[in-house]
Amino acid sequence: MERDCFDDNEELCREEISEENAGEEIYKEKRVSERINMAGRLDGKIAVVTGSGSGIGQAIAERLAQEGANCVVDYRDHVEEAQATRDKIEAAGGKAVMVHADVSVLADCTNLIEQAWAQLGSCDILVNNAGIEKEADFVDVTEADYDAVLNVNLKGAFFLTQAFVRKLQAAKKPGRVINISSVHEDMVFPHFSTYCASKGGMRMLMRDLAVELGPLGITVNNIAPGAINTPINKSLLADKPKLDALLANIPLGRLGNPEEVAGVAAFLASDDGSYVTGSTYFLDGGLIRNYHEQ
Ligand code: NAD
Repeated sequence: MERDCFDDNEELCREEISEENAGEEIYKEKRVSERINMAGRLDGKIAVVTGSGSGIGQAIAERLAQEGANCVVDYRDHVEEAQATRDKIEAAGGKAVMVHADVSVLADCTNLIEQAWAQLGSCDILVNNAGIEKEADFVDVTEADYDAVLNVNLKGAFFLTQAFVRKLQAAKKPGRVINISSVHEDMVFPHFSTYCASKGGMRMLMRDLAVELGPLGITVNNIAPGAINTPINKSLLADKPKLDALLANIPLGRLGNPEEVAGVAAFLASDDGSYVTGSTYFLDGGLIRNYHEQ
């Protein structure tokens, strides 16, 4: 069996592959050609992606690298997860540095941005992705729960963006802020009031900063995922009746993949997204539009 491929000079040629390796080889070939087609949109750009040791953050870091960016991989607890992300970035041809930063701690936020400049020479793209959720009836929410969720999801994004903008302003550079909010920046989620408060806050923060930072050439947008197949949904994925009920509400009939979120992040980070600011991109298989009259 023969296939089209690229040689070392990236010229199209044909090579023979055995029948038994055919499936795997074709898959690899697809990945390589995807990389070739996507390469370049973010050449020379530097991105900070918070919480990029897993799930959506990891997929975004990998995708930005596939398009030419170098990345700061932020992690709080699991260095081995950050190392896996670094390996993916390097496999995509990018440069990666790992920085430990708890985004709920102001000094860590400042240091994270400083490290991008110190170790990679600049910072053009900030992806506020780190996030947590805690389930509790409203009447039972503790101050500790409130602080934990709001401090990671909202305060972290707020002060990271501030540190990012201060550096851009000093360097007279434009930039991109991409927040990973949630359909729950807009859609109710009973028993997750802290999460809704944090993501709703992120929606207004994004809109406000789009106006305030527009004159500096800084765009600010949200990506609002619905149900994506990541570790944050571990308990949902293990609860079949609950999962089936959710799937019945999703017009596309399935969960999303982190890579599908990453594709929109890459668009917003690239020149293709240069005139987009103050917008939320819902990425939810139609979930938020699926209201039926009772
Ligand atoms: P995830 O649990 O895999 O990712 C969250 C990441 O944030 C983890 O890597 C975690 O270590 C990191 N993190 C948590 N607290 C942190 C802190 N204080 N400092 C630094 N990092 C911290 O889950 P995910 O689904 O990839 O979540 C990513 C983002 O997407 C979150 O903001 C989440 O709210 C949002 N989101 C996810 C879904 C979904 O269905 N998966 C839907 C809507 C929104």
